[in-house]
Amino acid sequence: MKDQDITLVTAETLRNEILRHLKLSIGKDPSHASLYDWRMSLSLALRDRVVEPWFASTRKTYEGKHKRVYYLSMEFLIGRLIEDVTINLDVEEIAVQAMADLGQDYYKVVVDEPDAALGNGGLGRLAACFMDSLATLAIPAYGYGIRYEHGLFEQHFEGGQQTESAEGWLAQRHAWEFERPEVTYNIHFGGYVSEENGKSNWNPAETVLASAYDTPIVGWKGQWANTLRLWAAKPVKLFDLESFNRGDYIGANAPERLARTISRVLYPDDTTQDGKELRLKQEYFFTSASIKDLLRRFLAEGNKIEDLHEHVAIQLNDTHPAIAGPELVRLLIDKHDFNIDDAIEMARKCLGYTNHTLLPEALERWPEDLFARILPRHHRIIQMIQDRHLSATGSDIRIIEHGNVKMGELAFIIAHSVNGVSALHSELVKETVFADLHKAYPSRILNQTNGITPRRWLYSCNPALRNLITDTIGSGWAADLERLQNLNAHLDDTGFLQAYAAAKTTNKVRLAKWLKDRNDVTLDTSAMFDVQIKRIHEYKRQHLNILETIALWNEIRDNPTANWTPRVKIFGGKAAPGYVLAKSIIRLINDVAATINNDPVTKHLLQVVYPENYNVSMAEVLIPASDLSEQISTAGKEASGTGNMKLSLNGSPTIGTLDGANVEIRDHVGHENFFLFGLTAAEAQEKRTEHGYSRRAIEASPRLSRVLGQIGAGVFSNGDHHRYSDILHNLYEHDYFLVSCDFDEYFAKQREVDAVYLDVNRWTRMAAANTAGMGWFSADRTIRSYADQIWDAKSVT
Ligand SMILES: *Cc1c(COP(=O)(O)O)cnc(C)c1O
Repeated sequence: MKDQDITLVTAETLRNEILRHLKLSIGKDPSHASLYDWRMSLSLALRDRVVEPWFASTRKTYEGKHKRVYYLSMEFLIGRLIEDVTINLDVEEIAVQAMADLGQDYYKVVVDEPDAALGNGGLGRLAACFMDSLATLAIPAYGYGIRYEHGLFEQHFEGGQQTESAEGWLAQRHAWEFERPEVTYNIHFGGYVSEENGKSNWNPAETVLASAYDTPIVGWKGQWANTLRLWAAKPVKLFDLESFNRGDYIGANAPERLARTISRVLYPDDTTQDGKELRLKQEYFFTSASIKDLLRRFLAEGNKIEDLHEHVAIQLNDTHPAIAGPELVRLLIDKHDFNIDDAIEMARKCLGYTNHTLLPEALERWPEDLFARILPRHHRIIQMIQDRHLSATGSDIRIIEHGNVKMGELAFIIAHSVNGVSALHSELVKETVFADLHKAYPSRILNQTNGITPRRWLYSCNPALRNLITDTIGSGWAADLERLQNLNAHLDDTGFLQAYAAAKTTNKVRLAKWLKDRNDVTLDTSAMFDVQIKRIHEYKRQHLNILETIALWNEIRDNPTANWTPRVKIFGGKAAPGYVLAKSIIRLINDVAATINNDPVTKHLLQVVYPENYNVSMAEVLIPASDLSEQISTAGKEASGTGNMKLSLNGSPTIGTLDGANVEIRDHVGHENFFLFGLTAAEAQEKRTEHGYSRRAIEASPRLSRVLGQIGAGVFSNGDHHRYSDILHNLYEHDYFLVSCDFDEYFAKQREVDAVYLDVNRWTRMAAANTAGMGWFSADRTIRSYADQIWDAKSVT
């Protein structure tokens, strides 16, 4: 059968398909259909058009016996899918027309879709971008994760303070997924290991069912589609009838309650590790189901288990799925008669591990007694992996040490490849967290600098710039982003720069309207939109930004008639619910906003806005409208960043430190188009050895001293002197993240930004040079590099 030519769909056929779904799938008459009904019908009609390429892709993979990539990730931060799918199928105009013919506004329907937030931030969004690129490149792949009933919490501000409520993306039917009730695996926990005839048997105490839900992920132009398979936990025994008949109605539901908690909620801790037993169970739950599933598929194709590594590449997105190593070893020994050495060797050939953080508090480790209680067999296998590692290398680095099972060391030792996510980060991985293991395995650590999908993060979210680029350099760049370099030839063309500035203005007006509707705030769209959007964390230094804002406010008040550059400071981001200092920073930003925005002397020059509940959909509105990108983390702490890439690509020059991928962004867009400040990673490390560095830096900076004095005097807290004593104490006494040391240079660099911004032509050229230089940061480039250097996987074309 010939592949469906997706371009052949017309508005009329799509309209009929939508109507058919409204009637037959939703059961509604058009005259009574709600927005939800229309959204479901449109989504189902679009999903239909993905099914044919999806089947064709699966068929080709089977027929060609192509190697498959399995991307295991605890998080997938997918966002909405309607626009993503229409863009990838190249049917946006047709969808708009079809909905209009039905009397519906396509864009209203689009924003009615819940934002699927099965992740916290960058790590989960990376997994989603990778799925897009794998499909676009036609590399056979599965994403494996958890189908959380509740995604990341919703953030609200009450009196400027963050509060959280449960998110309910599955409260309504999820249009994109296919339930696979026949694809289930028993996942075991607890119990004990017995020995019999030299064989170990695991006698588990608890069992839950992992049940599959598949979402097709279609690539550019609908040429290929892969599967995102998410696991839901269900009870093995639905209902304990015996308890019920005894009159124990609560006990009768116990199996169900126990099972469902496993896929109930996403852990909202972004970087700190959480030692909860439930989290360990979640990790083992989805990893075990995924490994069993890929083995079943492999064997069903008639392959020999000895050839597993030639057909299967498994990538671990951080250590959360690191138990995949021992699980695969276990299954090879118990079900396929491997000996331990061969099983470890095979697991190693299949596994790659991506490290995402150097923060010591974020490196997962489990108390050994807890680990041995939940996974007794894996505990022993890990000891055997460790023994072989110790004797083969002579290294003294252990996986189990001081009563902890260290998942980073496990992942490193059991994988054939370990990668960092930016050039700087990968070097620091070699020098710091894994310095000793790097000596034992000197060729294991690679670098794979992160990337972003240009389909969602430019083509879809920024139609104004999309059209200008296509008019200027022709089409084809969305799947070959390095072509953006061709924009360089136009950087001195006044007509192009005017059109570029006009596109930016269009996006700023769109954001202003969005904020007006949502929060009833009015923005001056001629002001510079200065944007910092990301999780709230001390290392990302939102507090550096808000302290600089206060200093600027002071200076405008001191000299209100000077030639100031009007600015709107835009913040977005959530703090982990238990991260007290991050929540304090949120409150400070909101308090400062309340004060500054009401100051008649300055309010036309400086405004602070912080819309609540930052997520992918909000990012899609904010990023195209940004003029300045704040990437101001303490050098050496941000592994890569991907927000930095999205903003620069959309024509927002960076003010930033030499951290993560900022280093490579600066090299690609040109040093003259990047506002650099701050200590380097090496200088930062050096600085921390100086006794009392922060107090000295504060005392040496009249500007910063004044700001901290104002906060302490209650200027932003109605005279409450203590509201921010945690932040102040931290800055004076510890300041591990070196806010005090970078403050003056940051302030000075911001004034340079002000001056350049007043020169419209120069600024626009700089912004356009950012777009032109960012082609290398397409996730397509990243995935090609993983495929070549780690997976040995090929595109099927
Ligand atoms: C890209 C993205 C992130 C990552 O941002 P960083 O600035 O790299 O930390 C986090 N959250 C959302 C919603 C994103 O789209």
